[in-house]
Amino acid sequence: MPELTAELQQEFDTVVRRNPGEAEFHQAVREVLESLGPVIDRRPEYLESGIISRICEPNRQIIFKVNWLDDQNRVQTNRGFRVQFNSALGPYKGGLRFHPSVYLGIIKFLGFEQVFKNALTGMPIGGGKGGSDFDPKGKSDKEIMKFCQSFMLELSHHIGADTDVPAGDIGVGGREIGYLFGQYKKLTGRYESGVLTGKGLTWGGSRARTEATGYGTVFFADEMLKLTGESFEGKKVVVSGSGNVAIYALEKAQQLGGTVVAMSDSGGYIVDEGGIDLEQMQELKEIRRGRISEYADANPSARFVSDGQIWDVPCDIALPCATQNELPLAGAEALIKNGCTLVAEGANMPSTPEAIKAFRANGVRFAPGKAANAGGVATSALEMQQNASRDSWTFEYTEERLKEIMVGIHARCAETADEYGSPGDYVRGANISSFVRVADTMLALGVI
Ligand code: GLU
Repeated sequence: MPELTAELQQEFDTVVRRNPGEAEFHQAVREVLESLGPVIDRRPEYLESGIISRICEPNRQIIFKVNWLDDQNRVQTNRGFRVQFNSALGPYKGGLRFHPSVYLGIIKFLGFEQVFKNALTGMPIGGGKGGSDFDPKGKSDKEIMKFCQSFMLELSHHIGADTDVPAGDIGVGGREIGYLFGQYKKLTGRYESGVLTGKGLTWGGSRARTEATGYGTVFFADEMLKLTGESFEGKKVVVSGSGNVAIYALEKAQQLGGTVVAMSDSGGYIVDEGGIDLEQMQELKEIRRGRISEYADANPSARFVSDGQIWDVPCDIALPCATQNELPLAGAEALIKNGCTLVAEGANMPSTPEAIKAFRANGVRFAPGKAANAGGVATSALEMQQNASRDSWTFEYTEERLKEIMVGIHARCAETADEYGSPGDYVRGANISSFVRVADTMLALGVI
């Protein structure tokens, strides 16, 4: 792991001391601080004016109780969170995650990442994140609705089109955003379209928002490939996960000529050497909400593996699109051994620090999530633009804007990495260019 300079180590120690037990948050902060040594050398005023400690402290952290009645009329109690991390660049913006692993440390790591990711898009959005330890798995549609309504009873006090704009993340998709928006509208008596993104197309949603994160990750990877005169054409691709991000990474990788040979869910992974069928995967995961093993049941060409890691499947390109820390050192070693040359993260922080170090040491091109998965939130910002002007754009136009944004993020990361003497280091490029944008804005706005 690259060392921190003495001053940055001190800042990091303070973060660990002030936020005990929040391992994922510490990991996300450390990764950014590790990139900042050369920035502080050039711009010591960042340290002198306390920007590092200010940027690591969320503006506001809200934790609340969510009571709801299940189908047996039993009272259930969950915990809800909204961490409004940084609003230097615009209203807090970031998704809601419903998953049993959610606790404050997860929401803070995601909120922290979101600040930098959103800055990279070049759009006027700050960073925040929220969610609950509610487990949507096995819940009826009615239970999901009741939970969302109860969650919004509290959340509605803290959000607004110009203050904080939540969206989806793991466990929160179009259905949940619908129930949340319905309740917000009922509670406030206002049709405030811009208060949430990821909405349905008949009530203010943006075309291409569902596809945006997965498409964006593939656009980013494609830009990386172009630098060496390559493309997705003829490449074997492994995509972990089978949620929204993974499914649309599959679609775009296929459209660009790649063959996606493996995908996964929490029960295991499937391998289909001829290429995974997009429509079947959509039907299985988006409509039936089934298990990935059922794909192998229905396809003799595919096999299901319930133990082991998807990273053992040989590929040229790996797109981790499931969740944090899903790609450990052993996964990185397997990818490297089998000749994988490019990893672009569709999920938030899926590679562990040790895995990233192994990629670096072995010349694997690596794009961190805050750059490669920024297409989702960027298209949320496009949805906010459409809402503000009461307009609705075509799919083609919106996808074109998304592509331009991803090309721009790639260029910004690559140029910054060059400028700071680390060509090809997208982690450094992403961290430095986004940090400088947020930090300069914070300096301009004064100590507030
Ligand atoms: N949850 C997504 C992310 O991690 C999207 C957030 C949004 O659209 O606001 O960036």
